[in-house]
Amino acid sequence: MPKKQHYDAVVVGSGPNGLAAAITLSRKFPSVILLEAKETIGGGCRSAELTLPGFVHDICSTAHPLAASSSFFRPLELHQYGLSWVNPEIPLAHPFEDGSAVFLHRSLDITAEALGRDGTAYKDLLTPFVKGYDKLLSGILRPIPFPFDPFLMARFASKALYSAKGLGEKKFHNHQTRALFAGLAAHAMIPLHKPATAAFGIILATLAHAVGWPFVKGGSQNLADALSCCFLDRGGEIVTGKPVSSLEDMPQAAYYFFDVTPRQLLDMKGLGLSENYRQRLSGFRYGPGVYKMDWALKEPIPWKAGICRKAGTIHLGNSYEEIAASLCCVNKGEISKTPYVMLAQQSLFDPSRSPEGRHTAWGYCHVPHGSKADMADSIEKKIEKYAPGFREVILARNTMSATEMEQYNPNYVGGDINGGVQDIFQLYTRPVISLNPYRTSQHNIFICSSSTPPGGGVHGLCGYYAARDLIK
Ligand SMILES: Cc1cc2nc3c(=O)[nH]c(=O)nc-3n(C[C@H](O)[C@H](O)[C@H](O)COP(=O)(O)OP(=O)(O)OC[C@H]3O[C@@H](n4cnc5c(N)ncnc54)[C@H](O)[C@@H]3O)c2cc1C
Repeated sequence: MPKKQHYDAVVVGSGPNGLAAAITLSRKFPSVILLEAKETIGGGCRSAELTLPGFVHDICSTAHPLAASSSFFRPLELHQYGLSWVNPEIPLAHPFEDGSAVFLHRSLDITAEALGRDGTAYKDLLTPFVKGYDKLLSGILRPIPFPFDPFLMARFASKALYSAKGLGEKKFHNHQTRALFAGLAAHAMIPLHKPATAAFGIILATLAHAVGWPFVKGGSQNLADALSCCFLDRGGEIVTGKPVSSLEDMPQAAYYFFDVTPRQLLDMKGLGLSENYRQRLSGFRYGPGVYKMDWALKEPIPWKAGICRKAGTIHLGNSYEEIAASLCCVNKGEISKTPYVMLAQQSLFDPSRSPEGRHTAWGYCHVPHGSKADMADSIEKKIEKYAPGFREVILARNTMSATEMEQYNPNYVGGDINGGVQDIFQLYTRPVISLNPYRTSQHNIFICSSSTPPGGGVHGLCGYYAARDLIK
């Protein structure tokens, strides 16, 4: 129960963006309360023993290049609140069915050298972005892009506006490097021939070299817990087990911030949003969903390619064509017969995730929006192609279809983990076209989830910019 009847600000939803909004608001206002529907805080940043006792699984997010580089999280010095990163030297390996593999090493030089005749092109492409990653990210991960370094930004735009297909073909000769780049860009869940999909590939590769793709030691929940400690330390209040569906479910406040997506905001009663704003909000587009799996393992995954045993994250797509076809399928509402799979193996680097000698793995593939399809067999068959004997090391598994993902967290509408399509037409115009995307038609009601710029991922910047907008 809230302790008071009236607050300066109420924040609904304790995902990374809700927590970021709450922390930012608490710098200005003495009484800020955060209300969370579930019994635990964290949104897409929770962990739990999903399979067997002693095995800690990340229910949603696990690899955190965006969090580690976040200009909001870093100054909070979250290590004071127990956060520590586990940063594999090889953030990503991309194996092929023939047993070969390419990889991203923290070192750009080592990565380029291993890419053979594509090494120089890879290095030329990424060097300026890795060197200037701070300015680049500050310039693009904000409500409206701003060129802090105009030359760097122009260079980025000249590459990022390509499709992943176009840039991959222009820059790289080897089919392995093209597959590697496709696998990175596929995180956007947009068909790879669409404009600006190269941006996602460039950013994720840049971050692999600049900050790594770290896991949170002990589980992603520890990041959410560190953020909540930081908020409580500033005098904030948190109430869990408090679903909000109307204004009446909340204590009175001068301002309300919603870490929810447009559809949920539209369903919220008593907010008094104007008809015009409601109509614009209802045009918001959601994307494909994901089918997620977690495994408790007897021993590490028996990859054919040895380098995979040293990498935090593994991308499974045998060629550019296979990955591209898989994304096209789900965007057309069809199930892919050869789904592109992303997998992480946290316990190889963080023994606290599992009982001694045992291991965890986490993986998902894309599925059509709202799909109920069971992809467990397809995913495991796929892994077997790259790691024969994988099924023999499984002790237990947990699965979540796209619809179950939405039941777990209503922000994942239809299983869409990015809070809405992130194509060039909706990345900076989310949730509506506006110079001030966090404000609604009510002067005291704000939206601050990943359905606002700069979009999906654990970085807290949507929440931060929403709150900053009010404070300014
Ligand atoms: C399977 C999966 C894998 C992912 N992997 C990664 C990854 O590796 N790296 C990465 O950076 N990102 C990843 N993401 C994306 C990341 O988790 C999200 O982009 C991020 O959590 C969005 O933060 P948010 O605060 O906007 O919303 P959320 O984290 O979704 O939080 C919303 C919160 O609001 C609460 N809520 C919703 N409605 C109400 C209501 N009516 N009343 C009260 N509370 C409510 C929910 O319970 C939830 O706690 C992944 C997501 C999923 C699902």
